[in-house]
Amino acid sequence: MENMNITVKRSKRKTCEIRLLTQDELEVRVPLFYSNQMVEKLIDSKQRWIYKKREGMRPTLASLKYQLGGVMPIWQRPMTIMPSETSTSYLNFDNSTIQLRVGLTTEQELIKRELKGLLKEELKQYIEGKVIQFSEIMGVKYNQIRIKSIHSRWGSCSSKGNLNFALNLILVPQEIVDYVIIHELAHLRVMNHSKAFWKIVESYYPKYKEARKWLKANAQALEL
Ligand SMILES: [Zn+2]
Repeated sequence: MENMNITVKRSKRKTCEIRLLTQDELEVRVPLFYSNQMVEKLIDSKQRWIYKKREGMRPTLASLKYQLGGVMPIWQRPMTIMPSETSTSYLNFDNSTIQLRVGLTTEQELIKRELKGLLKEELKQYIEGKVIQFSEIMGVKYNQIRIKSIHSRWGSCSSKGNLNFALNLILVPQEIVDYVIIHELAHLRVMNHSKAFWKIVESYYPKYKEARKWLKANAQALEL
């Protein structure tokens, strides 16, 4: 399975058990005699179940609070908000922390402002890289890229070729963000959502229907 960390635990047991720990962590418990090939086969036979279960494990922001110690799923990965020990704010993916230059504050507004600034930078860097890459492949020219706190949509494209993306995309899996980028770039060729438009999207992102579905299902849970 793509994008999955799989841990295999062999022990003196007679049955197999597959557990999905998080959206991308799978634990497989098997008897000692199980070869890697057998494990692979087992996982293959459970693909449907895993997929369904994964779908159900949407990241939830219900517990989201702008406070030190709070956890935020950046790129689908739980990251803990901490006061930065240096003079800058940064994301530390090595130890899953969000280091904020806010001191030991309890002021939620201050944390929110600093956090949003930081996430904007992170998202912009990712999107810019992808826009450069995809626009070349798709043969389109764009003007400016902006990250905005918009909630009604994931992205938009103006007739002048300006691309806007919602900050909330930082809470979305990167492969789905790629769909949003390709969608907006496709608008540089066809401005509406006609059949011709979706044909272009599909040619660069064949699984666009799944991506749309995912965004629809998760839109409300993903608000910064
Ligand atoms: Zn559109």
